[in-house]
Amino acid sequence: MTSPVWHPFTQHGLGEPIPLVSHAECAALFTADGGRIVDAISSWWVTTHGHGHPRIMAAIAEQATKLDQIIFAGWTHEPAETLARALVTLMPPPLAHVFFSDSGSTSVEVALKMALGFWANGAGPRHRILVMEHSYHGDTIGAMSVGARGVFNQPYAPLLFDVGTVPFPEAGREQATLDALEAHCRQMPAAFIVEPLILGAGGMRTYSPATLARMHAICRRHDVLFIADEVMTAWGRTGTLLACEQAGIVPDILCLSKGLTGGSLPLAVTLATRPIFEAHRSGDRARMFFHSSSYTANPIACAAANANLAIWRDEPVLERIADLGQRQQARLDRIARHASVRGARRLGTIAAFEIDGGTASYLSAVAPRLMGFCRDRGILLRPLGNTVYVMPPYCIDDADLDAIYGAVEAFLA
Ligand code: PLP
Repeated sequence: MTSPVWHPFTQHGLGEPIPLVSHAECAALFTADGGRIVDAISSWWVTTHGHGHPRIMAAIAEQATKLDQIIFAGWTHEPAETLARALVTLMPPPLAHVFFSDSGSTSVEVALKMALGFWANGAGPRHRILVMEHSYHGDTIGAMSVGARGVFNQPYAPLLFDVGTVPFPEAGREQATLDALEAHCRQMPAAFIVEPLILGAGGMRTYSPATLARMHAICRRHDVLFIADEVMTAWGRTGTLLACEQAGIVPDILCLSKGLTGGSLPLAVTLATRPIFEAHRSGDRARMFFHSSSYTANPIACAAANANLAIWRDEPVLERIADLGQRQQARLDRIARHASVRGARRLGTIAAFEIDGGTASYLSAVAPRLMGFCRDRGILLRPLGNTVYVMPPYCIDDADLDAIYGAVEAFLA
């Protein structure tokens, strides 16, 4: 019998196999028919330390015996209180307030609403949001609106709100981005939202910390809120806890999800500065922050996130990340010598390059061909069009890294 499941970003009409995964450990997924698959993309960029990390699994099991779920409007619980305090300690000041939600997209929706609420409740309404070309911030309507328009969201275009777009700061052409941002900022927009240092779904495009710092300075100068969407980049992915760290900047609003629970359970937070919180705090109920979802700050997910933070506190995570970066680089250097490989680059644990041939769009035929080729060889890889990237869990060993790069080399050959 065919399955009734409707999968995300999957064209069921192509009849491609959909493997049934039964369990996972570190960088390996095990299928129900006995196969072992190397997870080269951290299960959509969420798994940081590795699948089934014992400390995170134990925290989940323990919390499940105490409190499963509780309404978070006007009620609280210990795992959320502990997590919020730990996040405020770990993240740079003045990010002093933590709003919970349950996915990267919702953390972005919350950030946009906070920005508009800040202006509406304070200096006067501002509605316009500035974005960067090629960005991706999620698949809800607001998140799509601030992301690149294209095949992902074409059918929904009439629902998406208008934004101001600055060009992607290609190396050597950064000034055009800065000039465009400066011009947009003069129109008094509410906020600028960016993926710091690397645009994920937009093709793993990297830009320099200096450009990030200069964009932040322009927003500061014009009193435009700066939103950093670190849903993909945080938790060490780019080599530091936050990508913003490398530019020496602190955003007004910060979106975190994916690796927040080490990639084990869905949870997100949007951190904000005190003035943004204070703009909503009042004796007037009409000024409260009108956002929630049923599972906001789910206690079991918060316990998983607390265990993740404990791992960051107690274990040499950044050293592991630096080591993985070096081990990726050695393999990337080799593959970069291949005649059909272009634009090899690495940021922290993320390695990427383009394969020549076919179109450069998300629908490039290279992606399904390489994906299928790798799946048949026990590797989970999911290129973005003709952009191939490797973003493994931090625990991956050399043999599994060799298997990933070996499969790509075999495909190229
Ligand atoms: N923002 C960025 C930068 C992302 O990379 C993603 C997902 O990949 C999202 C937001 C959306 O996150 P989610 O899929 O959890 O809604």
